Amino acid sequence: MGTEDNLVLSDNAPEISAVIPVYNEEDSIPLLAERLEAMFQALGTSYEVILVNDGSRDHSAEKIKEIIKQYPYFRALHFRRNFGQTAALDAGFKHAKGTYVVALDADLQNDPDDIPSMLEKARSGVDVVKGWRKDRKDRWLTRVLPSKIANRIIGWVTGLKLNDYGCTLTLFKREVLQEINLYGEMHRFIPVFAQSVGASIQEVPVKHHPRKHGESKYNLTRTFRVLLDLITVRFLIMYNTKPLYFFGKFAFASLFFCLACWTWTVIKKIMWGYPLYTDPFFIFGGILLVLGIQLLLMGLLAEMMVRIYYESQGKNSWILRPDEKPRDPDG
Ligand code: UDP
Ligand code: MG
Repeated sequence: MGTEDNLVLSDNAPEISAVIPVYNEEDSIPLLAERLEAMFQALGTSYEVILVNDGSRDHSAEKIKEIIKQYPYFRALHFRRNFGQTAALDAGFKHAKGTYVVALDADLQNDPDDIPSMLEKARSGVDVVKGWRKDRKDRWLTRVLPSKIANRIIGWVTGLKLNDYGCTLTLFKREVLQEINLYGEMHRFIPVFAQSVGASIQEVPVKHHPRKHGESKYNLTRTFRVLLDLITVRFLIMYNTKPLYFFGKFAFASLFFCLACWTWTVIKKIMWGYPLYTDPFFIFGGILLVLGIQLLLMGLLAEMMVRIYYESQGKNSWILRPDEKPRDPDG
């Protein structure tokens, strides 16, 4: 990951940073830059735009260099190869300096003109303002329908019911993002993580346009990747700091059934004289015993890993409200 072409900004952090993942979008980005610039100028606030070139193979890199020359508040990150949209967003978020950060797609399917009203919401105190493509302009059978089903499942599994997890157009308070690292297809789960650190989330309907230039980078298989990520997310948010509680439940269930099986074989032996060691329940009980012990040990391993994760990064298992942190006695 290189940060060449980074235009030096003044030390004063802007109010808002826009982060845009770009993969083979040579025809869209000049238009997008123009619309963003016009929108931010009209809005009259301090801003920066971070274009993250995710290893594009077309002329996006050259186009980005031209854009940076033309607009003073645009910056670029160039990945060495294609790492995916989530990685691009993560890099952009980590380089953003704004109080607020807004993510949007480079293909002009999201509309920059939705940003001012979203910013207004965030200024009034909402931590995550999530775009909802109420009238989505993509293929129904392969994109809209699977995404509708996925949204339902995600809402059900995570307990955070949103209409449109997949919409990139989302505005965050940056401090919410600081607690979160993104992997796989996980950018869509940021609201879930955000909720787990106590952030407030609100969905707002946003405009959505059909793709005019270039082509979509995704197909139906993404839905399956999203569902796999969902398993990780569920586990992370529920048992992040206490994995043994999760594994322990199954371990105890397994050991309980082991005991039940063996009690049953002993009763059969005493009451009716059945042989003990060849009884299927006896053997099954043995398997359950091994399973139970394995689960307990896995839970203990996970406990150690959680400690390594938190303590190596100096993280705490709690997070303070930024506005009410105790004052530094010297400051
Ligand atoms: N994108 C990216 N890396 C990838 C795939 C996509 O940075 O490997 C960007 C792409 O340039 C666009 C956004 O992610 O700005 C969304 O991609 P796309 O429009 O193809 O997804 P769709 O809107 O069809 O879901
Ligand atoms: Mg798109």
